[in-house]
Amino acid sequence: MSIKVSSVSKIYKTQKALNSISFSAEKGQIIGFLGPNGAGKSTMMKILTGFIKPNEGEVFVDEIDVLQNPLEAQKTIGYLPEHNPLYADMYVREYLQFQASIFKVDKSEIEICIEKVGLTTEAHKKINQLSKGYQQRVGLAAAILHNPNVLILDEPTTGLDPNQLVEIRELIKELGKDKTVLFSTHIMQEVEAVCDRVIIIKNGKLLVDKPLQELKKDNLQNIEVTFDYKIEEQFIQKLPNIVSYKNNYDNTWYITFKSKEDMRPKIFDFAQENGLKILGLNGYNKNLETLFREVTSN
Ligand code: ADP
Ligand code: MG
Repeated sequence: MSIKVSSVSKIYKTQKALNSISFSAEKGQIIGFLGPNGAGKSTMMKILTGFIKPNEGEVFVDEIDVLQNPLEAQKTIGYLPEHNPLYADMYVREYLQFQASIFKVDKSEIEICIEKVGLTTEAHKKINQLSKGYQQRVGLAAAILHNPNVLILDEPTTGLDPNQLVEIRELIKELGKDKTVLFSTHIMQEVEAVCDRVIIIKNGKLLVDKPLQELKKDNLQNIEVTFDYKIEEQFIQKLPNIVSYKNNYDNTWYITFKSKEDMRPKIFDFAQENGLKILGLNGYNKNLETLFREVTSN
């Protein structure tokens, strides 16, 4: 396991930020760490990277006990903290040289990282002359300088414009090819675009921990359909992929389907085959965004 978190709790004075969180990640996975503001994402990441200690629980990264050996663990972790703290007055190369000296990394790695994160054209500039997107690249370059196996990225795409967003997502995907990546976000589409797995936390509690594919399979569609005749229950059951149904008014049915395919055309076919007319049809796909809102709303 690249990451193993067991029953981690964290209390700040009176605020319970994490409540017995457990999860693990296999090597080479990209995991979206989702949750509304204040859920405890940053707290979990600071604990994972050995910057703060939990009140309870155990944390292993690359089989290293982070609480016992934080410095050893940090050698295998690349961390991009929230708000990406950079030295704005430094030149890009100067900053990366500074970081390289902290990690005792060979200077030759700097150019490799600059190239890897797509900073080649900007590397001669001062950090405060760069756009937010390029500043994030500098943060990412600094995080991967020592060639860590595990990347912990705290909201790496927050505050980026749509183009930068896509570029940084692509970069995370690329980096994830040979690293385990845990990155926090509150954008569900981002998870769909980048991740293999999704962990959702709220109020310090873990709510969902599933492969993205499975989560998508859970996708349910709710459709309300009104026919011109009252039909029998057995009739409705002929529709495929039904999870549940309810006869709301005489001719109106509220049906939940479990299907990746849009069920509305199927209902049209069903009506036609059975000599029915559809007087009303309301449906929505329960996409990941809906699921996220449902899971995290009160
Ligand atoms: P997220 O990153 O998901 O937005 P955080 O981990 O930053 O959540 O915060 C989780 C909870 O812990 C919040 O209620 C926050 O106010 C609280 N918190 C975070 N850091 C501190 C701190 N240093 N002292 C007290 N409370 C904190
Ligand atoms: Mg945070």
